[in-house]
Amino acid sequence: MISFDEFVKQDSWARIVDLFVACLPIDTLGFKYEHASQGRPPYATTDLLKLLLYGYKNHLRSSRKLAHACQVNMEVIWLIKGLKPSARKIAYFRKNNSKAFKQAFRYFVLMLKDMELIDGQTIAIDSFKIRAQNALKNNFNQKKIDRHIKYIDDKINEYLNQLEQEDELDKQEKIKHKIEYQNNKKLNYINIEKKLIESKQTQISLSDPDARSVVLHRNIINVGYCIQAGCDSKHNLFINNDTGTVNDTNALSPMALDAKKLLKLKQMNVLTDKGYTTGKHIDICTKNNITTFSSPKAHSSQNNGLYDMQIFKYNQLQDYYTCPANKLLKTNGTIYNKNKHKVKHYKNRQACKNCDLRAQCTTNKNGRFIERSIYQEALENNKKRVDSNPDYYRLRQQVTEHQFGTLKRQWGFTFTLMKGKENVLSEVNLMMMVYNLRRLMSIFTPNELKNKLKALDRHILKLYKLFLDFTTHYLFKSNFLIVNSLIIKLP
Ligand code: SF4
Repeated sequence: MISFDEFVKQDSWARIVDLFVACLPIDTLGFKYEHASQGRPPYATTDLLKLLLYGYKNHLRSSRKLAHACQVNMEVIWLIKGLKPSARKIAYFRKNNSKAFKQAFRYFVLMLKDMELIDGQTIAIDSFKIRAQNALKNNFNQKKIDRHIKYIDDKINEYLNQLEQEDELDKQEKIKHKIEYQNNKKLNYINIEKKLIESKQTQISLSDPDARSVVLHRNIINVGYCIQAGCDSKHNLFINNDTGTVNDTNALSPMALDAKKLLKLKQMNVLTDKGYTTGKHIDICTKNNITTFSSPKAHSSQNNGLYDMQIFKYNQLQDYYTCPANKLLKTNGTIYNKNKHKVKHYKNRQACKNCDLRAQCTTNKNGRFIERSIYQEALENNKKRVDSNPDYYRLRQQVTEHQFGTLKRQWGFTFTLMKGKENVLSEVNLMMMVYNLRRLMSIFTPNELKNKLKALDRHILKLYKLFLDFTTHYLFKSNFLIVNSLIIKLP
């Protein structure tokens, strides 16, 4: 006689996953059940979720590998009680529940906040890139399409020349086939061009339409996703995530506002690198009580040998600059759009015309003119904060970058198996749940962690039964989180 329980070590990952999933209010997270009209009942959501959480930590991400693990892996057999879902069942469960995975991750973050492991005082935001299920040759921009069409046109011209010089009928036929083949290829590229124009995007990916050409490492370009991640500084735990854009330029305020809303904070500090420094987003953060510490970008005029922008003194009250020759550079008040940035122009043509310092100041024949972003004040305040708190800003690297290393190097999350933004985020949410849970194993001893999870489990079950008796399903759903968070606070 053997017991499966003996095969699973007391501090094993499978046991932690088992206890963790028992703490989640699965019915309220929006997992979709597949109700067959006949035959055996569907697999329980908790079992499939346990399987995924176990697998994502152990390099078992593909549905086929997971299905195989259900047959041969003792811990998995123990974890899901010997069930053997097919690869197809696992794949569809992951594909159809992207919103529920997001809810589960966010619920977990709230649990961590209630356990006082997340304080929300300092959030660091950064991004990492992963490859998509889309080959580079299936990603096109206008330049690439033009290059292919030109190559085909050259080929066709070459064949037409050959056709003119060829007398043998057999060979003429062969050349005609080649021309037809090239024409078909050209038609294909014309269709892709049409799709690109209709999409109003700068690039199009054929296998995974949401994937974008991104720089994975220095000078290595591939098709993938740029994953944004917010981390709390108290225990370096993940808080939120997103994807969509290929760089960080427009990610600061959406990520920061989302974290603030999720954690229900009145104020918080955000640490980000240079890529996130844009006046507009820093301004939005400031207006929403979020203090940014975003590495300042060097001004574009700094390396051209002419007078640096810092020498020009700005008068905030009267909105003008004083130049090194002590002249006033004024604006007409118009706001211009420059590369999607809103700027005002400041100049004094008359003074520049006869200025002795002109050679050191400008090469523009109309004299020096300054472009000032309408968000310049927010940018300058941010710079002052970073310059006066260098040690605090340096925390950023410690708070975010280690996690990315773990996800990518240790757990192999350098590529996604899914297609489409929503589904890719399912994998990200699973990975982040696994990371946070694994991090708890370092913060607490295995026994402490198990006791905490068991305590949560007991309270949630009690609560569930209580509310199921007294409220309608709708009322239960709306009250669950509030009451749940009170219960979590109990020792
Ligand atoms: S060139 Fe114009 S802006 Fe520059 S120092 Fe002379 S007056 Fe001032």
